[in-house]
This record gives sequence, C-alpha cells and structure tokens, in this order.
Amino acid sequence: MKALVLKEANHLVYEEAPIPQIGADEVLVQVKACGICGSDVHGMDGSTGRRIPPLIMGHEAAGVIAEVGSGVNGWQAGDRVTFDSTIYCGECYYCRRGQVNLCDNRRVLGVSPGEYRQDGAFAEYVAVPQRILYRLPDGLSFVRAAMLEPVAVAFHAVGRTPIVLDDTAVVVGAGMIGLLVVQALRLAGCGQIIAVDLDRNRLDLAQRLGADVGLKSDEVDVVAEVLQRTTGRGADVAVEVVGIGPTVTLATQCIRKGGTLTLVGNLAPKVDLLLQAVVTRQLTLYGSCALNGEYPACMDMIARGAIDVDTLISAVAPLSDGVGWFQRLKGGEPGLMKVILEP
Ligand SMILES: [Zn+2]
Ligand SMILES: [Zn+2]
Repeated sequence: MKALVLKEANHLVYEEAPIPQIGADEVLVQVKACGICGSDVHGMDGSTGRRIPPLIMGHEAAGVIAEVGSGVNGWQAGDRVTFDSTIYCGECYYCRRGQVNLCDNRRVLGVSPGEYRQDGAFAEYVAVPQRILYRLPDGLSFVRAAMLEPVAVAFHAVGRTPIVLDDTAVVVGAGMIGLLVVQALRLAGCGQIIAVDLDRNRLDLAQRLGADVGLKSDEVDVVAEVLQRTTGRGADVAVEVVGIGPTVTLATQCIRKGGTLTLVGNLAPKVDLLLQAVVTRQLTLYGSCALNGEYPACMDMIARGAIDVDTLISAVAPLSDGVGWFQRLKGGEPGLMKVILEP
C-alpha cells in the first residue's frame, strides 16, 4: 500500500509500505480521509518525543472496512466507520470504570513514544481493534467524519467544565480545538463567550462560530475587558487551549471567585501557577485528556449541522501531496486550519 512514512525527524516520505496484519479482534480499514493534527505537525521534528521514527502518523480518520479478523462480531467488509484515536484495553481499572481515555495500556494511533509504536492512518490501510469502531451515519461524509476526533476533544473539555445556563466563558486560544470549544460552549448553554488569541483572523473566525467578542491579547487588557463585561466579577469558567505559562496565567486571572478553569492545552510540560489566586479565590482546576465516549453525540451534531466543521477545513488533498501540506502547516501559513488527506 501507499503510506506517508516519517522516516526520521522532519523527514516524511510518500512510499510503499506493507499492508498491516490484523489480529483476531481487529479490522482492516481502507482509509478514505485523515486529518493532519497540530500534534503531528509539531511532533514530527522529535520535540515531543511521541513520534519516534519510523512511523505512519494519523489519528483523525474515517474509512471503509476492508477485512475483519476471525473474532470480530457485528462488523463486516463495506461498513463505513470511524474510530477513536485511543486504543484502550477494556480490562484495566480505568477501562472498567468507563474512563477509557485514562487506560493504563493506552496506545494512541499514529504515535510512538518509545514504549510502543502504533502505525496510524496516513496510509491506504490501517488496522484497528473492533472495540474502538463507530458506524458512520449515512449522511456523514468521510471528510467531515475525519473532524470527529478534534470535535470530541472539545466536547470532552466542555463536558468536564461545570457550566450553568447563561454562564460567561473565556476561551484562551482560538486554534482548531479552541474554535470547536467555542461552538461546544454555545451548545452547552453559555451566555457570553469571549475568545482570546494573538491572531486577528482566528478571532474573526471565533466570532463567526459563536464567540460574542474576540480579544487580541497583545492589543487590549484582556482581564480588564473581561471584568468590564461581567460587572466587575470575572468569567464563570475559562478553557485554556494553548498550554504555556502566559496563557494559563491569563486564563486564571479572568475567572471570578469560585469559578472554574479547564486545562486542555499542554505545549509546556510545566508552568507557574498563581497559587494564591487559586486558593484565595477558591478556583477549581480540571485537566481534560483526549475524549471518552463523545463520538456518537458529536457525529449526530456534525451530521445535523449543529457543529460547523466545514468552515475549519482549509483543504482536502490527496495523500500523495501530504509532504507538501505538512511543510505548509509547519511553516505556519496564515489562515491555514485543518488539512484532510485522502489516500
Ligand atoms: Zn489530534
Ligand atoms: Zn484499559
């Protein structure tokens, strides 16, 4: 089969690779669409330690079942499917509690952090266990289905956040996940949504997708602006989708006493915490990791148009052009959001 193979740091090659062998409980999926994630673009230079070559990346995908293993029930060749980005074991303490995103034996598709290597979906075929499969509704295209994983990540974060009807929410970071968080907060019943970023285009997009205002953090005093829009109190909740010191600090400063900060971004392994603000203002901090069972609801919302993913898709291109698209994303081309590759 053809695949986009990360041969060494920063060196992607479109070449021939062996079709994956499937185990008894696995299916072979013929990939029809696979989105390029920011973590792929940032990770391919080796900086995150999670994409050790050689590796086929890609964890935001959809396709058609080509072959099923001997122990697979309820799935057959020709089924239109998508799948979780996390392969969980189903047996460990966390899986048995229903927290499969916290699985002790978690493997992420298209990732190789050293302990394992799990080839992903930038290829004509990918092998996945039946446990993580979801059937696609008829009305949902493969390209839109490739957006499910980031949508589910956004909904998982908003689901972790205790939101009361008409709450004011601040979203720090208006990248792909931030823009989906804005939409999820709106659907969750937030009143006022304030997006914060350094990029005016992304803030415009945030406003188009449901934010009431977009604050450019190098031009306005974000905290003062948030206070002014909340009768001096501060926002009820903030969602941080960047993950570096200054943005975590800013998010913390925007929240009212007794409010909540949900942390999704994690670019930096550690940041300074405004400890006294968290304690004396009695804030609650939540971490949010990947997703856990949000796919069916997200599929339904994308299919019904309740979530707009089309606005976020910049290009749909053949997998054979993948090397060039990775370069353009790595170069930070303005306005470029999600690129979806079709094998
Ligand atoms: Zn991703
Ligand atoms: Zn498990």
